Order: sequence, then structure tokens, then C-alpha cells
Amino acid sequence: MVQDQEVLAAEMERTFIAIKPDGVQRGLISEIVSRFERKGFKLVGIKVVVPSKDFAQKHYHVLMERPFFNGLALVLLFAMVWEGEGVIRYGRKLIGATDPQKSEPGTIRGDLAVVVGRNIIHGSDGPETAKDEINLWFKPQELVSYTNNAEKWIYGDN
Ligand code: GDP
Ligand code: MG
Repeated sequence: MVQDQEVLAAEMERTFIAIKPDGVQRGLISEIVSRFERKGFKLVGIKVVVPSKDFAQKHYHVLMERPFFNGLALVLLFAMVWEGEGVIRYGRKLIGATDPQKSEPGTIRGDLAVVVGRNIIHGSDGPETAKDEINLWFKPQELVSYTNNAEKWIYGDN
């Protein structure tokens, strides 16, 4: 890994991915990180957070009217920002459908979860949400830019 503040990072898409308390408690952090890492995406921010209930509900504000809203307390979270071409959309594919019963085998929820209330992972669902969620969970200085030497083997020389 070479430190390089100039990098393409500026143009590269970023998404907010979080392993929820159930995923953390079940020891699935490395399994989940490894799926994003092996794909070729780049980890540019990471922290373990214990958000207040208010903060967790801010994250899920669009679901305020839903009956399960109060159950959405994110009491412990492994929060990450991943970077790469198409990472928002493809990250959702790696994660699978909201309800693990409907997630394809091979996806994170398909392989590792059974019910919707314990679906172990969150991923931003579009460019606007990604930007908002990254800003909500991370300060700009908590995100890094660096060149990963594998990049030319992942993306070619362009
Ligand atoms: P996601 O983007 O695939 O995570 O799905 P949503 O944004 O629609 O919902 C956010 C989270 O709310 C989901 O990941 C689930 O943890 C939870 N959730 C969604 N629908 C249900 C439901 O019908 N029942 C319960 N218990 N939780 C739900
Ligand atoms: Mg969502």
C-alpha cells in the first residue's frame, strides 16, 4: 500500500456498509469484509460504533412510519466505507435482498442470515443515500485515500 493523496479516489464511488449487531455478535465481521475485499473493492474507512438510539433512528429515518422501526436500534455496529467502480449498486448485490428468505444463495444475507429482522448487514441503496450515510457516520478526516498496488490488476491501465 502506497500513501498517495492524489489518487483516483476523488472520482471513485463510495458506499456506506455496516455490519449490524447480529452480524458482529455472530462473528461474521471477517467473513463479510473478506467478500468485499476479494471482489476488488477498497476499504477507506472503518470503525466500531455504539450509536445512541436517537442516532440509529436518524440513520433509519425513512422507515419512521414502519411498525418495526423501534426494533431498529443499532446498538453495536461495525461501520465501513468501501470504494470502487459501481460499489454502491454491486455492494447491494453482494448483500442480497432485504429478506434473507428471498436472498439468492451466494449473497451475504442468502448465505448467512435467515430472517429479515436479523439480516446482519446494511448497505446504502443509491448515490444520494450513500453520500448522506457516509457523512452521518464518518468525519471527512476519518476517510483515507491511498493507492492499492492491486488496482492496476483489478481495473487495467485505462
Ligand atoms: P435494506 O436496505 O435491504 O436493509 O432494507 P430497508 O432499507 O427496506 O430496511 C432497513 C432494515 O429494516 C432492514 O435491513 C431490516 O433490518 C429492517 N426491516 C425491513 N423490513 C422489515 C420487516 O418487515 N420486519 C422487520 N422486523 N424488519 C424489517
Ligand atoms: Mg435500506
